Amino acid sequence: SYEELRTATCEFSSSNLIGSGNFSSVFKGFLGPESKVVAVKVLNLQKHGAAKSFMSECEALKGIRHRNLVKLVTACSSIDFKGNDFKALVYEFMPNGNLDSWLHPEEVRSSENHPRPLKLSERLSIAIDVASVLDYIHSQCFDPIAHCDLKPSNVLLDNDLTAHVSDFGLARILDQESFINQFSSTGVRGTIGYAAPEYGMGGKPSREGDLYSFGVLVLEMFVGKRPTDKLFVGDLTLRSYVESELSEHVLDITDVSILHGEVSNKNINVAECLKMVFHVGIR
Ligand code: ADP
Repeated sequence: SYEELRTATCEFSSSNLIGSGNFSSVFKGFLGPESKVVAVKVLNLQKHGAAKSFMSECEALKGIRHRNLVKLVTACSSIDFKGNDFKALVYEFMPNGNLDSWLHPEEVRSSENHPRPLKLSERLSIAIDVASVLDYIHSQCFDPIAHCDLKPSNVLLDNDLTAHVSDFGLARILDQESFINQFSSTGVRGTIGYAAPEYGMGGKPSREGDLYSFGVLVLEMFVGKRPTDKLFVGDLTLRSYVESELSEHVLDITDVSILHGEVSNKNINVAECLKMVFHVGIR
């Protein structure tokens, strides 16, 4: 309950660091009397933009729920024992880490939890999980949201490899002049390689921007190269790869008429996401 959460203690230590991002360090921790396993994201408030990202994340995630969204358990904004501001977000813990480490296991340093290659069926199901979150945040929830930083390290995997989209630190509420849009409307959004090209030219956060990142993410999942590796563009073997490996899942592989920005976010399904792969691949 709210009252229990308000007074709950959360224990974590620096030896339990599980990840770090632009604005934060993430630790495995234990919440409340039942020691529920959680991920504690402690904002590095020295970094410019960290406090904003805390606000964006709270604002975006408040009141939304989906089986493929990472669950925000609680948030804490306080003063630490040295008298400095302290802000942290507490999430449900995702035992299988992030998708990036599964796609590029050779880069994972620790020998523990070294991910095995994902099966084709697992990759498809992760792609569908991510697509259903996009459909939800873009149009099904009360205040539609653009994620603005979709990439494999922001897709977390549950015990059974169900995908949960995380990191709403750059997310924007669409279609309304909300408080959050007022103070965070400038600056380049997203991550190079995943961010839609128009974001680098001052473009507004949009559903289409997320779909662009989704296309890159799916492409990376099936081809195994990072977008920054430059091997995607004009790579004819991509076409043969997609055709030979995935043909039974594709309704019409020759249909490349879906152009960036024109695809509807309704009913994204396997065929749509693979068309997206194909489109981004031949760009
Ligand atoms: P930032 O906003 O600073 O980029 P993220 O939210 O992306 O931080 O988290 C960084 C990393 O921490 C993730 O890529 C992931 O490896 C790990 N992480 C974050 N949240 C969780 C969670 N709920 N369960 C397990 N690991 C997590």
